[in-house]
Amino acid sequence: MATQIVLRNMGVEGANTLKGALERGAYSRLKKTFALLPGAVVDEVKRSNLRGRGGAGFPTGLKWTFLPKGAPTVYLVVNADESEPGTCKDREILYWDPHLLIEGVILASYALNSRHSYIYIRGEMMREHAVLQRAVEEAYAKGYLGKDHKCAGGNFRCDLTVHRGAGAYICGEETALLNSLEGKRGWPRLKPPFPAIKGLFGQPTIVNNVETISNLPAILEQGGEWFAGLGTPKSGGTRILCVSGHVNRPGVYELPMGIPLREVIYDVAGGIPGGRVLKGVIPGGSSMPILTPEELDVPMEFDALMTDARIKPVEARPGVLFDLGGGKQLRTMAGSGGVIVMDETTDMVKVCWRIMRFYAHESCGQCTPCREGTGWLERITRRLAEGRGQPGDVELCESIATGIAGNTICPLGDAAAWPMLAFTTKFRSELQARIP
Ligand code: SF4
Repeated sequence: MATQIVLRNMGVEGANTLKGALERGAYSRLKKTFALLPGAVVDEVKRSNLRGRGGAGFPTGLKWTFLPKGAPTVYLVVNADESEPGTCKDREILYWDPHLLIEGVILASYALNSRHSYIYIRGEMMREHAVLQRAVEEAYAKGYLGKDHKCAGGNFRCDLTVHRGAGAYICGEETALLNSLEGKRGWPRLKPPFPAIKGLFGQPTIVNNVETISNLPAILEQGGEWFAGLGTPKSGGTRILCVSGHVNRPGVYELPMGIPLREVIYDVAGGIPGGRVLKGVIPGGSSMPILTPEELDVPMEFDALMTDARIKPVEARPGVLFDLGGGKQLRTMAGSGGVIVMDETTDMVKVCWRIMRFYAHESCGQCTPCREGTGWLERITRRLAEGRGQPGDVELCESIATGIAGNTICPLGDAAAWPMLAFTTKFRSELQARIP
């Protein structure tokens, strides 16, 4: 059993109230942290090797250093717009441990000098929103929020606003989220400028995921080195994986960073029902390239999933899409931790169509390759799934996906193109069999 940090209180009745949370140590890290200067807090987070848990796995402490020095107004925005198919981890933290997240927000706000921070929560999470909103009100009533704290630099006060989205997947993309928070249409922005330079209301902004921020209390209590030691050399801490599909024990698990995928499926999740055989597994939410049964002996860690030679590289336009430099090709990604397991009874052509349908529906329509390309992919994979494929359809899907990837404003284009190319690489014969 891995050390439980962010899911420590999952399933503990009453832990999501202030009384229950205080009994279990909530807000006990504030005093110790306020004795440090903000720069020392940033250094501690850098030492921890904490990496963003929203999908990209970017080092959190390094991201924080991109803020311009001495900026008078800085915002911290927590991305709680969890919508990636297969991923349901942040909602567990929001429901079972909202005070852990709020404490993390206060700690990060202090480190970043954010006087007003935001949590942008997915609109459909009504139950989680109610619990979180109540927790914020409790934290205000107790003076953790909205009142001055004595700290090494003088006084520090943090305000926190919870904002509900309206159910658009694209608002999980950080710049679309910022537009939505500003009351505008949730359209991604062209980068640069990056949010750390020009974000919310035109001010320097850090956007971090719920799980990322919820790790901060433990890091500041036990130290960055302790946290780094829990993980792999470049990724500190634990990782929440949401295991769904054809397994005996689907669920949300906090596991050691770098646990082999095979162990996740066959030990943690109890293997495949009825002794059936595995056919494929998506390791990090539906936008990540699928893996085959031969590719399971890979550590579930950000870098390994991208480069481990045991994973077959996805075939695409050479040097453009999957080239990581140094002769390495991107193979898949850890993404948002959604592990979707599919056994031998699965129709992979239908799965491919279902994924394309999702991204075609969620495309915001701003850029042509994504708006048109995802629609074409959806229509072609639908006719393949229905056994009405036409000669050249598989090659056409590859050509469209290659045209989308890397040529759009935001990563939603890649989110459709990458899985499409993985299906044409790894399940090509199944796709071709649907062409009469
Ligand atoms: Fe919108 Fe798609 Fe372009 Fe992203 S890639 S901005 S979702 S059209």
